[in-house]
Amino acid sequence: MIKLKDVIKEYKINDAETLRALKGINLDIKEGELVVLRGASGSGKSTVLSLIAALSKPTSGEVEVDGDKISKLADNFASEYRRHNIGFVFQKYNLIPNLSVKENILLPLVPMNLSKKEIDEKLKRVLKMFHIEHKSEQLVKNLSGGEQQRVAIARANINNPKIILADEPTANLDEKLSLHFIEMLQELKAEGKTIVVATHDPLFFGLNFADREIELHHGSII
Ligand code: ADP
Ligand code: ADP
Repeated sequence: MIKLKDVIKEYKINDAETLRALKGINLDIKEGELVVLRGASGSGKSTVLSLIAALSKPTSGEVEVDGDKISKLADNFASEYRRHNIGFVFQKYNLIPNLSVKENILLPLVPMNLSKKEIDEKLKRVLKMFHIEHKSEQLVKNLSGGEQQRVAIARANINNPKIILADEPTANLDEKLSLHFIEMLQELKAEGKTIVVATHDPLFFGLNFADREIELHHGSII
């Protein structure tokens, strides 16, 4: 479902220098697979996620999702692609503290021009799925860490995307909450979602919950 072919990604540092963050990556992730991308900080994990999300383009090589060359999409088509296919969970959640749970979860729908009925149905589905119905009207800043985590994953799922990308999702969580998070990922996998988690959290390793662990080292898969 997700294919990276000979992907090289270089970042321009200044006029004279570039940094080669990915040095020719080949990856083939199947539909419904749960993959953990591991590797030290700076090894290229976030870069791989940003390419799959069409947030950036490879310097050379190709990224295909469902047979479409997303590395060739013009910007407006890239955001359309993201909206319909990708759910993101970030390290620090990127929630807006002064908005309610409901408002935060609905943010990805703002540009979509949906009917009230469609919005309500989508909201109801994720509130229920992640057990936060009772907090729907509360401001996010008043929630516990575990509740904020559920809001973040609910928001990532509001459009029922096929692909969930999580970047260091447990970086700020204690062990109990991290394990809860992993359980939520397993539930999403059971629904048939394709999931890629970038992490160097040792909790993820050896738990045997991922279909595959892929290790990056200085921009290469080892
Ligand atoms: P990881 O997620 O494994 O920590 P990243 O993909 O964030 O790794 O980064 C890989 C390498 O690319 C690092 O050396 C990082 O400093 C560099 N890098 C990432 N983003 C940029 C950018 N926008 N500009 C310049 N260098 C970047
Ligand atoms: P946990 O230990 O399960 O992570 P907390 O002890 O932080 O949870 O919070 C318990 C409950 O109190 C939660 O339902 C949370 O929403 C509520 N709560 C926590 N902090 C605040 C606050 N500042 N204002 C309102 N409610 C709060």
